Amino acid sequence: GTKSYSFMLRTKNPCGKVSNKLYLVMDDLADQFGIGTLRLTTRQTFQLHGVLKKDLKTVMSSIIKCMGSTLGACGDLNRNVLAPAAPYNRKDYLFAQKTAENIASLLTPQSGFYYDIWVDGERFLTAEPPEVVEARNDNSHGTNFVDSPEPIYGTQFLPRKFKIAVTVPTDNSVDLFTNDIGVVVVSDADGEPQGFNLYVGGGMGRTHRLDSTFPQMAEPLGYVPKEDILYAVKAIVVTQRENGRRDDRKYSRMKYLLSSWGIEKFRTVVEQYYGKKIEPCHDLPEWEFKSYLGWHEQGDGALFCGLHVDSGRIKGAMKTTLREIIEKYNLNVRITPNQNIVLCDIRQAWKRPITTVLAQGGLLQPRYVDPLNLTAMACPAFPLCPLAITEAERGIPDILKRVRAVFEKVGLKYNESVVVRITGCPNGCARPYMAELGLVGDGPNSYQVWLGGTPNQTSLAKTFKEKVKIQNLENVLEPLFYHWKRKRLSKESFGDFTNRMGNEKLLELVDKWEGI
Ligand code: SF4
Repeated sequence: GTKSYSFMLRTKNPCGKVSNKLYLVMDDLADQFGIGTLRLTTRQTFQLHGVLKKDLKTVMSSIIKCMGSTLGACGDLNRNVLAPAAPYNRKDYLFAQKTAENIASLLTPQSGFYYDIWVDGERFLTAEPPEVVEARNDNSHGTNFVDSPEPIYGTQFLPRKFKIAVTVPTDNSVDLFTNDIGVVVVSDADGEPQGFNLYVGGGMGRTHRLDSTFPQMAEPLGYVPKEDILYAVKAIVVTQRENGRRDDRKYSRMKYLLSSWGIEKFRTVVEQYYGKKIEPCHDLPEWEFKSYLGWHEQGDGALFCGLHVDSGRIKGAMKTTLREIIEKYNLNVRITPNQNIVLCDIRQAWKRPITTVLAQGGLLQPRYVDPLNLTAMACPAFPLCPLAITEAERGIPDILKRVRAVFEKVGLKYNESVVVRITGCPNGCARPYMAELGLVGDGPNSYQVWLGGTPNQTSLAKTFKEKVKIQNLENVLEPLFYHWKRKRLSKESFGDFTNRMGNEKLLELVDKWEGI
């Protein structure tokens, strides 16, 4: 059948920025060449599922012509660089977004290799800031391959995919600590950006029944002044390029290099390529998860409106309604790392008519969405991902309804919530190991249950139970939520509660459970 010849195609949009034109083109392409839906990913990009091989060239060139790009969206190189999607007209946000774009540009393959394959060498040219070109070509500390079209990647690229996120203090909408490099803007008392805290070695993927593979949170590397950021990022990438394991892909992410070396040795090697000492990290305030849902002031007179998209899948009435608004008002949009969409640059006078259209399309926030859905994520899994062991995106609506039913049964209120994330395999694309309740497919219709992430994504979950059959989920959830409701401290999140209780105690409660 045609199925085996269909492709998944992913765009690259640093900070999740999507121009009006690109949105409209993607919306058309989904109907003409895809499966009629648009999917927003956890890395702020579009995925188009079901593109047939014969249509690939048309689709690719349409995307490239309107400034989106698929270059570097897959493969052993830097993936889409995350940054907060909010279009705030604030120095720190704008600086974070500009830095994300510069890092993306620094680490974009130079040879045009991918374009040569996909669009017959048609080049998509953007003017790069001179500081990016300078940082890429700088070889004063022996970082570069000389005489190679790829001064940073060489011919072998990196041992494995590489992920970077940039953000500002308090805003953890980017799931900072799940990245190979986390970059945080540090500003002075006047709000003027001065430099960056860097965190290294985060990563989610693991392999079942292999304890030597594990999810890891990034740890503090140190602080660099703002003018040095591209050199520092390059030094980290080169450290991984030269020392990351290439003999076994299971161990080739940078987190394994960090765990074998320790942060001190890692920092020393990075400093050699960087050519300077890295200072200690600056103290930062607490992290928060920011969803940007609903209406907000941009700070420049205009408004933005964040809309929740279940599992990032734009389809049906939502697709039609979004298109109508985005086209009519010529809006730019942003994709969030939580697979939601932000409509940007809305004039005050448009707020009412847009609200009306949103209401007519059934999209008015947040009334129509259960709070559980607002923070939940699922990867595509069946039928779209070849690695899937069990359901994720297709299963999550029902699972969330069942979680809500358990909440009601144990007396938890409607506005209470936990962060639920589900993936069809241990690769962890929807970052389940940072969830308060993570479900990771480990067999037909069965999941590993992970507990211990927090609402602001600053703690790593641990395996709680294996091979829990989907139909038996309540046997685990009921006792857990029952005891959370009764034993929690004031305002204690489910994640903090499970961490305080510890898995051993909780397992005992679950095993002894006889129902309410
Ligand atoms: Fe596929 Fe696994 Fe990623 Fe889900 S987590 S999309 S099943 S690779």
